[in-house]
Amino acid sequence: MRQSTLCSSTLREVPSDAEAANHRLLLKAGFIRQLASGVYTYMPLGRRVLRKLEQIVREEMDRAGAQEMLMPALQPAELWKQSGRYSVYGPELIRLKDRHDREFALGPTHEEVVTTLIKNEISSYRRLPVIVYQIQTKFRDEPRPRFGLLRGREFLMKDAYSFDASWEGLDSSYRTMYDAYVRIMERCGLQYRAVEADAGAIGGEGGTHEFMALAEIGEDTIAACDCCGYAANMEKAQSRAERPAPAVTAVPPVEKVHTPHVRTIEQLAQYFGTESRNMIKTLIYAADGKPLAVVVRGDHEVNETKVKNEVGALELELADAQMTAAVTGAPVGFAGPVGLQIPVLVDTAVATMTSGIAGANEADFHLQHVVPGRDFSVERTGDFRNVKEGERCAQCEDGTLQLFKGIEVGHVFKLGTKYSEALGARFADAAGQEQPVIMGCYGIGVSRMLSAIVEQHHDERGILWPPAIAPYRVHVIPVSVKDEVQMRLAEELYAQLRERGVDVLLDDREERAGVKFNDAELIGIPIRVVVGKHAGDGSVEYAERKDNEKRVLSVEEALSRIM
Ligand code: ATP
Ligand code: MG
Ligand code: MG
Ligand code: MG
Repeated sequence: MRQSTLCSSTLREVPSDAEAANHRLLLKAGFIRQLASGVYTYMPLGRRVLRKLEQIVREEMDRAGAQEMLMPALQPAELWKQSGRYSVYGPELIRLKDRHDREFALGPTHEEVVTTLIKNEISSYRRLPVIVYQIQTKFRDEPRPRFGLLRGREFLMKDAYSFDASWEGLDSSYRTMYDAYVRIMERCGLQYRAVEADAGAIGGEGGTHEFMALAEIGEDTIAACDCCGYAANMEKAQSRAERPAPAVTAVPPVEKVHTPHVRTIEQLAQYFGTESRNMIKTLIYAADGKPLAVVVRGDHEVNETKVKNEVGALELELADAQMTAAVTGAPVGFAGPVGLQIPVLVDTAVATMTSGIAGANEADFHLQHVVPGRDFSVERTGDFRNVKEGERCAQCEDGTLQLFKGIEVGHVFKLGTKYSEALGARFADAAGQEQPVIMGCYGIGVSRMLSAIVEQHHDERGILWPPAIAPYRVHVIPVSVKDEVQMRLAEELYAQLRERGVDVLLDDREERAGVKFNDAELIGIPIRVVVGKHAGDGSVEYAERKDNEKRVLSVEEALSRIM
């Protein structure tokens, strides 16, 4: 590629809202351009990196026996209603109507589509297991698109889905995908950690791990033991630390006092939204004293409230706005993913609270909801017990916990039969009995990975691409394009590299040497070959971006070093 014809230029200034290094550098070096909030164009340089990432992901998926396909982004809302996620997914799901007024959604993920597909393709255990995957654009109307490609509203994901006839089969598919993820992370040059994760909104019955790229700007916190290897997403670690908590066994007395009525979950959500900025936990008890649910929210995600049904060990993520939406419809959130029914009908819930509520962090309070046929109370127990740096590991009880910031770049998930049951994907087992297919899902944010890599591989002058995914491997820079000797040698080197199949960028622009060098460091191609004052002797200056150590080499020596 001749840089003089490249359809992007480096920028002197970047918008001030580009806070994260990866966002700034990718804009500045001309890899991406923003179209709207959380919506980006991959310029030719960015597209090349993305393709290399896709290729690594594709190779590892293929090696693991997964089959590539491509499903539509445009999905009938009907499928989402069948799975129960139409209401639960909330405003993150981009909804639209066609000209006949039929409802659609732009796929944020593909469990519904793929399960329906498999339902129609596979009817016997003989055809299982199957793993399919795609690399495709996803849409999520994120409340806070941030850090460029890191949290986009339109982004590239690799999503894979496994279908098994047995739980052991699922374990094995899960392991296969997990191992493939390890190879992908390593090949892409990411410093990462695989951690136990929280089940979240996807729901499901099995285990789940997240692959976290370590970075200070990461929105997730990882708690890792320095001794036994235990590593978990903070939310998961906290739920673990919580397990022996005695509070759940006690039944709080219910006081009814003169407080505003909380009639809807929307009001309840508002209440949580204006509450203490600390993590709070609220336990919900049935009138008979049985714990029903735990409501948790933290100041890190104002939009997310976690409702956790400890009794059923099921979890549901609710955004406040989702609750709002749901209030207008059927029983809120509580209509959640199939299988989860926190027994509250929100429209009909009435609550009275004690005086301590309005912003008072210290006071305990109790809520009593009067639900048709059912009473339950809510007790606030104060600050959520934080998992802290240096705390004793709950797993081995020997080591201490260390905390890291991480970017979730991948997620593997045992779904079980949640979607196959909801959407009727069944197969006949060896005895001829109909069973729901047992599923797993496995996502990698390919575009997010690109930004995570830059976040980990840069210095004050620019990006340092790991060679496996660099847009080009070699940057040939004639110091002066007007100098015939230099230009001839540069052209010769360029031609030779291309002949050998090396990705090479030739800086044939009529620019000052300083400008070219600065741009080269910004763009971050791993090997730089400068054709300058030694050109008359047939020599060039060879340097690698990572250490900038310069060597004067003959063209042949330079070529053999590159090959
Ligand atoms: P997050 O917790 O960051 O919102 P998620 O848990 O909602 O991510 P998943 O549903 O697990 O995401 O999707 C699989 C993968 O897709 C994630 O591990 C992540 O790498 C990527 N991903 C999710 N949301 C985005 C986004 N808004 N922009 C870019 N990549 C994303
Ligand atoms: Mg998300
Ligand atoms: Mg997540
Ligand atoms: Mg996830």
